[in-house]
Amino acid sequence: MDNKTTQITADSKSLSTSFQACYSSANELRDLLKMMMAGQSFKRETLILSMENAICALEKAYTYEKKMLNCDTDELDTKNMQSIPEEVQDWLSSTFTRKLSISNEESKHKFKSIANVIRAGIFVDRIYRRASLANFHISTPIVDALKKMNDWDFDVFELHKVSDEQSLRYIGIEVLNKYDLINKYKIPIKHLENFMNELTNGYKLYDNSYHNVVHAADVVQTVFYLIHRTKLQDTLTDIEKFGCFIAAMIHDYEHTGTTNNFHVKTSSQMALLYNDRSVLENHHLSRTFNMMREGETGILSALNNDEYREFRDLVIDMVLATDMSSHFQQVKTIKHLLVLPEYIDKSKALSLILHAADISHPCKPWQHHQKWTHSLMQEFFRQGDQELEMGLPFSPLCDKTTTLVPESQIGFINYIVDPCFQVLEAMLESILDYKDKCKTIKEKEDSSKHHGASTSMEVEKDRSSSMNNIVIRNPKKLKHTPWNQHISKNLENWKDIVSNPAKEKTFVPRRI
Ligand SMILES: [Zn+2]
Repeated sequence: MDNKTTQITADSKSLSTSFQACYSSANELRDLLKMMMAGQSFKRETLILSMENAICALEKAYTYEKKMLNCDTDELDTKNMQSIPEEVQDWLSSTFTRKLSISNEESKHKFKSIANVIRAGIFVDRIYRRASLANFHISTPIVDALKKMNDWDFDVFELHKVSDEQSLRYIGIEVLNKYDLINKYKIPIKHLENFMNELTNGYKLYDNSYHNVVHAADVVQTVFYLIHRTKLQDTLTDIEKFGCFIAAMIHDYEHTGTTNNFHVKTSSQMALLYNDRSVLENHHLSRTFNMMREGETGILSALNNDEYREFRDLVIDMVLATDMSSHFQQVKTIKHLLVLPEYIDKSKALSLILHAADISHPCKPWQHHQKWTHSLMQEFFRQGDQELEMGLPFSPLCDKTTTLVPESQIGFINYIVDPCFQVLEAMLESILDYKDKCKTIKEKEDSSKHHGASTSMEVEKDRSSSMNNIVIRNPKKLKHTPWNQHISKNLENWKDIVSNPAKEKTFVPRRI
């Protein structure tokens, strides 16, 4: 067991006793109920004892759940942050918690429980040929770049360069095709083309150095990796895969290159429209759903009402969860769910995957991480310039004359990215054996075809529970966790730069 697993286990050990008590009590009562239904006799004292145990366990669990759900403290431990500059502490605190937000009220939004293989490049080629777009030519460099989509170290910058800045369009269509979602949801090719063009234009609208179309393409590919290489794909329905990839594609559409806090403190039109709550995330969702629903960019017209509702619920949950101020709440919720004996809410699991992908650049090779850091700093400094012009105080890390780039990344990795990926890894390990569960259901289904109605009802019961939740049985180790080595290496590099300031000029300039 490695450090991170030990950490999570230790955190949850004291809680697991009371959860275990709930589980045992439920089993006891279920056995008694079965005996009653079968007309078997048992002692009155046995029933009284079981009920008393159940009451005790439920009360304990209720008290704990209530405490967890009402807890509005974020888990940024500032006591252990003495070694990093105050400005970096301010940035972490104002971005990833709600502490310095104008509104401190915790979101009351409750996530609802919702429930191949041709080489990359060839799918894209085939779909365009089928659509008779004779003049659409996919060059060999694009096909070559897309072939590496299964790799964690995928070079999105290279694809962007060779594809004439169309990285999102190629990656977007590629992932939809890999799971045959364009066929399944009868998406008109022309509409898909228009939608991808509009998405790309929206990401270019504010000419951001970080929150642009390359970042969107990078996040889509990272989500694809986390779903594809961990076999999480086997636990998802088609509509969940569709929602998941669309959420990744749209998650920063028309990003203004400024933060939610900036919108709120400047009382922007967007902040007014969305009442200061997850301002940008609400904008990304509202604008793209308008596009997707109808007209020449409509890609959802073939979904029936139930599919549309499930798709919309999931995409909204996932994109709202990319609001960085919900970071600690999200990580805490998943940690909490990991100690429960049976279920992880699928919507919450997919939301964590998108959030992790969104902050994953420190988990990528140094040369990519360094580029992303440079771009992000440029964007922060542009916001700082606007703040200076407007006579507002600088937001943390936005003053280009004082900002400490390496220190900010060290804090970001240590306090945000690494803990997030630890929980993500533990979560993925916990749900790995869900595939076996699906296999069992399939076997039961096959068997029910030969054994009458009662078996079919059992299968239906199993299926409905599997649709809503991911069942945890025996956690398995992930085969591929390439992010760990990059996190360590990148952290080492930043520390090296801090201790040898001369090196910094080689990597990231302190001032842009
Ligand atoms: Zn993003």
